[in-house]
Amino acid sequence: MASASDIRLAATEPDSLQVEVALLRQPLGDPYLNKDLWHEVDELTLPLGVLQSGRVAFAEPLAPARQRAIDGLGMGLLNKCVLRFERVFWPPEVDWIDFLGPRETLWADWTSYLRATGWPLLAGFNAARMADEVETWDDRTTTASAVDALRAMFGSSVPDPLGSQISRWRQDPFACGAYSFKAVGTRTKDRKALFGTDWDGRLSFAGEATSRDYPATVHGALLTGQVAAGAFLDCREGSTGASPLRNGL
Ligand SMILES: Cc1cc2nc3c(=O)[nH]c(=O)nc-3n(C[C@H](O)[C@H](O)[C@H](O)COP(=O)(O)OP(=O)(O)OC[C@H]3O[C@@H](n4cnc5c(N)ncnc54)[C@H](O)[C@@H]3O)c2cc1C
Repeated sequence: MASASDIRLAATEPDSLQVEVALLRQPLGDPYLNKDLWHEVDELTLPLGVLQSGRVAFAEPLAPARQRAIDGLGMGLLNKCVLRFERVFWPPEVDWIDFLGPRETLWADWTSYLRATGWPLLAGFNAARMADEVETWDDRTTTASAVDALRAMFGSSVPDPLGSQISRWRQDPFACGAYSFKAVGTRTKDRKALFGTDWDGRLSFAGEATSRDYPATVHGALLTGQVAAGAFLDCREGSTGASPLRNGL
């Protein structure tokens, strides 16, 4: 964030996290022709879940279409449970394992990190509603459930893991979910409405949820950020050409 906004992280405890985006400067005439724009605009790339959480207070209302997009798009969930074992008990040449277990979608996908890292590591995934349910389980229950799935696939000789690492992106106050999805009733145009500038060009939005072509991905986040940053640079260098920020991605 640059100097045009006062961003306040109003608490040290994650549970009471609050961000205030308060405008300190006067509106600009045409931000794309203003050579001082570099010092007059901010780029906001908070995850959609954080924007939806009610913990971000904007000093001025956002454009109605942008607010509708924030309210309407969904923030999905994908969590991993990474398990470290003393030995490899799965086919070592396999990177990806699918599991059709007794509970539909529970531990449905697994990735072996053996070939990538040389370590006997397996990551079990849960997505969507199942991920929300598993997030409510403690570490012990989650790990036991994951090992049950592995024993169903590879037999009772599967050893207990030496260690585990479990993500809970929904509960993470800096994420509030994994990545965005088009909820029922929303359309691609909502992502377009989320991207770009607000407050007469003084505040711009980027990040995966704003990407029309590559939502929910790293490249969607990167490309929207690059376009927003490129528009700033164009203005700073005095370019009067059509800004991609204005046109949307
Ligand atoms: C388990 C999982 C697997 C994935 N796999 C893939 C994959 O294989 N390929 C792929 O392309 N994408 C994948 N993704 C999606 C990809 O990670 C995201 O789309 C991308 O990281 C989004 O980038 P972003 O910059 O929009 O948001 P983020 O990366 O979420 O960045 C937003 C930043 O804002 C910060 N922030 C939040 N709140 C505050 C606050 N109050 N004050 C200050 N800062 C704050 C956060 O800490 C964070 O650093 C995966 C995601 C998950 C969760």
